[in-house]
Amino acid sequence: MKCWRSGAGIVWAILLLIKGGVFPLFGDAFFSDFTKEFQADLLWDERRQIGMIFSAEGKKIVFSPDCDFLIIDYNQKKTIDYIKKEGKGFLFGPSAEKAVRQFLENSRSERTPVRVKAIIIDAGHGGKDPGAIAGKTLPGRSGPLTEKEVTLDVALRLEDKIRREFPDIPIVMTRTTDVYPDLKERTEIANRVAGGKDDLVLFVSIHVNSSINKSASGFEVWFLSQDVRRDVVPEEVKQDVDDSVLPVITDLFDHEITMESRLLSKLICDGLERSVGDVSRNRGIKEEEWFVVKYAKMPAVLVEVGFISNENEMKMLADGEYCDKIAEGVFTGIKDFMVGFAAVEE
Ligand SMILES: [Zn+2]
Repeated sequence: MKCWRSGAGIVWAILLLIKGGVFPLFGDAFFSDFTKEFQADLLWDERRQIGMIFSAEGKKIVFSPDCDFLIIDYNQKKTIDYIKKEGKGFLFGPSAEKAVRQFLENSRSERTPVRVKAIIIDAGHGGKDPGAIAGKTLPGRSGPLTEKEVTLDVALRLEDKIRREFPDIPIVMTRTTDVYPDLKERTEIANRVAGGKDDLVLFVSIHVNSSINKSASGFEVWFLSQDVRRDVVPEEVKQDVDDSVLPVITDLFDHEITMESRLLSKLICDGLERSVGDVSRNRGIKEEEWFVVKYAKMPAVLVEVGFISNENEMKMLADGEYCDKIAEGVFTGIKDFMVGFAAVEE
């Protein structure tokens, strides 16, 4: 059941190039040189005309073809001649190429990768709030299946899978029993563990869908709309930067978190496709303003694991084995994100 404020879903075109072929894209000679030599990645947001270059170590440069400067790691402004968009690729002017090359060489020697500092798993609803409720009671049960039961089951299984594979990454559960942490508490928990500028904290909220259309079925993954403006720049970064650059950085920081949320959504959706795609429908990734993560300073996604209002799917969701497959799919997505993008050591 959706528990975020409904807002205008704005479709935004985003072109992504991520190493490992998650979103294969640009064929530009200049950028592919960087890719080959430094394993760099480029993400491009068509709507906002902003690009990001990631070094293999997770450091980043942000640029816009409209600006005659680059921003390196959010705290260094560097004047360049130009980076032009040419078809689907990018053309780097001589000083731009030099700046990017120098950045990639430096970050290679520094080797301080972006790390996933913690993962927050939010089992939606709980306690006095059952979330969506099934239309009928299955044999052997005392009452109809509720969303809060399914979300807790999936969340605990997900926690277990992450702990087994990544024992060093702290996991914060917003609940582990049938209690009701309110939305404010959930976001407070989320922000308490929010990372520094080189750390990522992932926020994954688990929910179950419901519809008056009894035939609606399948899983979908939501990420926070980029149109929700948040004050996401960590204090330590603010202190580092030149005042004239701060507004640009605030914008880019927010933007980057959206991009990371989108990537995490996509990878979780792919993971679910692999684990339950044969029996459930992939409804894709969606973008929405979302209350739980509106104030959460981290890449955040919400997974709707299936429809409790669909009798068939409700029966599947009542089954622990199916919930385990769901948890496995979400785990695969998180793992792909951590290993492929955030440079976590396995
Ligand atoms: Zn819900």
